[in-house]
Amino acid sequence: MQQHGIVMKKSLGQNFLVEPQILQHMIDVAEIDKNTVVIEIGPGIGALTEFLAKNAKEVFAFEIDQRFIEILEETLVSYENVSLIHQDILQVNFSDERYRKLHQADRLVVVANLPYYITTPIIMHLLSSRLPFQSLVMMMQKEVAERMTAKVGTKAYSSLTVAIQLEMDSELAFVVPKSVFIPQPNVDSAVLKLSRRGKARVEVEDPEKFQALVQVSFKQRRKTLWNNLKNEFIQKGKLDEVQLQQVLEQSGINPQRRAETLSIEEYAELYYHLEDVLNKL
Ligand code: SAM
Repeated sequence: MQQHGIVMKKSLGQNFLVEPQILQHMIDVAEIDKNTVVIEIGPGIGALTEFLAKNAKEVFAFEIDQRFIEILEETLVSYENVSLIHQDILQVNFSDERYRKLHQADRLVVVANLPYYITTPIIMHLLSSRLPFQSLVMMMQKEVAERMTAKVGTKAYSSLTVAIQLEMDSELAFVVPKSVFIPQPNVDSAVLKLSRRGKARVEVEDPEKFQALVQVSFKQRRKTLWNNLKNEFIQKGKLDEVQLQQVLEQSGINPQRRAETLSIEEYAELYYHLEDVLNKL
């Protein structure tokens, strides 16, 4: 980077991995082979990209910073299986014809050392993209990886946990020390592996509405479920008190419980009964 006169932008989450063993470990966790097509987010100067190019069938790398595209075009010139795309990953429309190969891949995975400031939006964007990826192996802030793998009833369990675990199995693959990055981030990191489940944990007709209900339930974590639901449904005139009580009773959920004690299956029960009542109004 010195050679190219580049100063890193903290605002774009630019912390580069400089430990080859960590890169190899990520490739192993993602089970990359010559049959695998990979999406990489934020290749930077291409340390991970080069590992991916050597091991995978094809790599599609999305980078927002034009300065790196120029460097990558030079350093990865000998790899014919790498496509560099200069774009904000959050603006990528994966239904576009140019990404047909991704939809047709025998085996598609995402591997990335993510920009931490947009970890959750990136994962949500990928999950809602309809891309047929088998797994996502991503470096992120350790605390966020813990939230995505949290068990019900724990402090880390949140609406994000439910959103992720609805369709994916999540596993914290390994913890990474700050010392393997330049510059060193302020937070600890971990590699998270999300693997697509054969079938969603629960079937919900409208996942967006389901997520909205979970978010409402967690709105004020310290309050009871009743208080959070009351604010959304009774105070906004969508249901009266008796109707909300009935929904909770039919769902078999004590209104005095807190959001972090409800399993995904219980949220699904709540969602079905709530939809049932709202649709009859
Ligand atoms: N992959 C490199 C590595 O492991 O050393 C760099 C990882 S660095 C944590 C994050 C990278 O994501 C940076 O190169 C940054 O420019 C890029 N980036 C940040 N926001 C982005 C976005 N919205 N879309 C695509 N790339 C982005």
